[in-house]
Amino acid sequence: MNTPQPPHIALLPSAGMGHLMPFLRLAAMLAEQDSIVTVITARPTVSTAESDHISSFLRHNPKINHLELQLTPSSRQADSGPVDPFHVQMHLIYQSMHLLPPLLSSSSPPFSAIIVDKFLVAKVAPIAKTLDLPIYILFTSSATFLSFMAYLPMLASNPVEFNTTSTEIKIPGLPPMAMSSIPPVFHDSSHLLTSIITTNSPALSEAKGILMNTFERFEASTLAALNKDRVIKRLPPILPIGPLEPYHFPRDDDGDQYRSWLENQPAESVVYISFGSRTAMSRDQIRELEKGLEKTGWRFFWVLKTSKVDKDDQEDAEHVLNESFLEKTKNKGLVIKGWVDQQEILRHPAIGGFLSHCGWNSTMEAALRGVPMLAWPQHGDQRLNAQVMEDAGLGLWERNWDWGPNGIVKGEEIEKKIVELMTDEKLRERAKKVSEEARKAVGRGGNSDKVIREVVQSLIIPF
Ligand code: UDP
Repeated sequence: MNTPQPPHIALLPSAGMGHLMPFLRLAAMLAEQDSIVTVITARPTVSTAESDHISSFLRHNPKINHLELQLTPSSRQADSGPVDPFHVQMHLIYQSMHLLPPLLSSSSPPFSAIIVDKFLVAKVAPIAKTLDLPIYILFTSSATFLSFMAYLPMLASNPVEFNTTSTEIKIPGLPPMAMSSIPPVFHDSSHLLTSIITTNSPALSEAKGILMNTFERFEASTLAALNKDRVIKRLPPILPIGPLEPYHFPRDDDGDQYRSWLENQPAESVVYISFGSRTAMSRDQIRELEKGLEKTGWRFFWVLKTSKVDKDDQEDAEHVLNESFLEKTKNKGLVIKGWVDQQEILRHPAIGGFLSHCGWNSTMEAALRGVPMLAWPQHGDQRLNAQVMEDAGLGLWERNWDWGPNGIVKGEEIEKKIVELMTDEKLRERAKKVSEEARKAVGRGGNSDKVIREVVQSLIIPF
């Protein structure tokens, strides 16, 4: 007798931990729901964090298959000026998509669908069409940023309104966005990131659905605007499936130092400070953050980065930080350089607040754990994310703080906002409520859970 066959799903992320993490989380989730899963990653990676994570993820998930794309040299490398190595890598992966068809067509059992990063869809969509393979996007940022990406070509075609001197932009179906929330690079069509976005934007409509690492209650009105074709016409269904639940690895010894430190801190007494996987802080700003932390009196756990790419981030914290700061805070603070298990930290009862750049994964992780956030956006989508996070009741955002590399935020201001973050009981309650809603969404029968199960169900081969 013929029995239904589980779908075989390919997942193809772009560069950087912020793109890789949600793809691996989705891969683990799909495998748990009995799909056959193949993750396709590019080699070499930019950061050690990416290559380490891919290896340990595959080691701990032996049922998940792996294919690699060997990258070819980039024509953009000859460009002059400082170029973000992660953007170069995104472009390289995009340029190497001619290597994808043989990987896809030689698979056994054949693929039932492919889920790709938003920055690869323009190249993968025609390939998937030729192979008659349904294509989905996993969008690794907020629904607000999706609206911006979808509408950017229209904005860019009207420089009279879309320019750095305008105060706001209007995207149909959404409240006006402050122009100050849009990074200046998005006004420069020749900037690598801007061209990646505008190249892929029109191809969003080629997907069968756009899976979002968000949940209904967090971004209800934007999701409704997108799904009712108010933002732009012809977008496929926007499918919230988040917050994507972090997978669990057995603990490694590297974290012993901070784990035992956290164990000794009172409940909700520690501010966790991290700016994600690829944001380095200037020396001047580090000095000011030291001053602010020293003055607050709150305990802190600071993950310090001084280079964008982890391979270049070799200096010890002791060499970067002021000796007197280390001395004065030795009983109440911990500074770590290197990779930490953030989702484990956010789950720890000692953590009472999160000073964050508002990368979307960090925002969803804080939402799931109900940790109040203080947003300090540094670049990219982070100011738009901060607005969403604040509107959802998860935290605070000090709009006057400039984008990371531009203005220096003074120690006194940082101190003031950290005190506010840690002492606002109403905010703490609201953050807990957000966490309840997030858990409900991903729990059995919740909105996000239903959506992903329906997608998988639609891909099952009847017999
Ligand atoms: N992350 C982590 N440990 C670190 C730094 C980052 O686990 O030391 C994880 C974090 O939990 C999140 C991802 O890396 O899942 C970073 O993504 P996000 O979108 O927050 O920011 P990005 O790094 O892309 O700026």
